[in-house]
Amino acid sequence: MVGSPRVMPGKIHVIDHPLVQHKLTLMRNRETSTSTFRNLLAEISMLLAYEVCRDFPTTKIQIETPIAKTTSPVLDGKKIVLISILRAGNGILDGMLRILPSARVGHIGLYRDPKTLEPVEYFYKVPDALGDRDTIIVDPMLATGNSAAAAVTRLKASGPRSIKFVCLLTCPEGIKVFHKAHPDVPIYTAAVDDHLNEKSYIVPGLGDAGDRLFGTK
Ligand code: URA
Repeated sequence: MVGSPRVMPGKIHVIDHPLVQHKLTLMRNRETSTSTFRNLLAEISMLLAYEVCRDFPTTKIQIETPIAKTTSPVLDGKKIVLISILRAGNGILDGMLRILPSARVGHIGLYRDPKTLEPVEYFYKVPDALGDRDTIIVDPMLATGNSAAAAVTRLKASGPRSIKFVCLLTCPEGIKVFHKAHPDVPIYTAAVDDHLNEKSYIVPGLGDAGDRLFGTK
């Protein structure tokens, strides 16, 4: 269905709007340059933010138009916290901040221990007093699901009012791991790809999102 997100079992919102799909195809193309990839990720992230905020409450404020006094709804933007999983999450963060300029920002850094293959935290900084804030964790690729699940576990310990997870691409393997750990956290994605390969890359995917975003390879 085009025009509103497809909600799949296990709380996955697939944002299959034609504009999102068009931009995603350009991002997948290996010929796309770093600067174009970066711009596209920011643009797509604005469109994803639009859907992620669909159920956020609004409050009415009094304003005066050039014609009359009226009350009109505004988003309670100060209550939203965007949390980027370093480093590729910063690409989504940049786009979402254009739509949600009042949002607070947190960062979570994780690396994979080469021996245990488990995610290890090297950085964690989020705003204080998350108890009355809605959080949105962002990372372009939900691949194995291990670091995303670890990030959510860590964030839950800080007690936010709600958590949503936003990525650009995911795959059945990543969804399974993530939802086993956190069945209560909805995933918003532009596509669910076919599978994960033996090197933990999403297929067909778009390659290494961090390298393509920052031009490191
Ligand atoms: N991380 C990426 O950047 N790309 C993948 O395909 C999987 C994980």
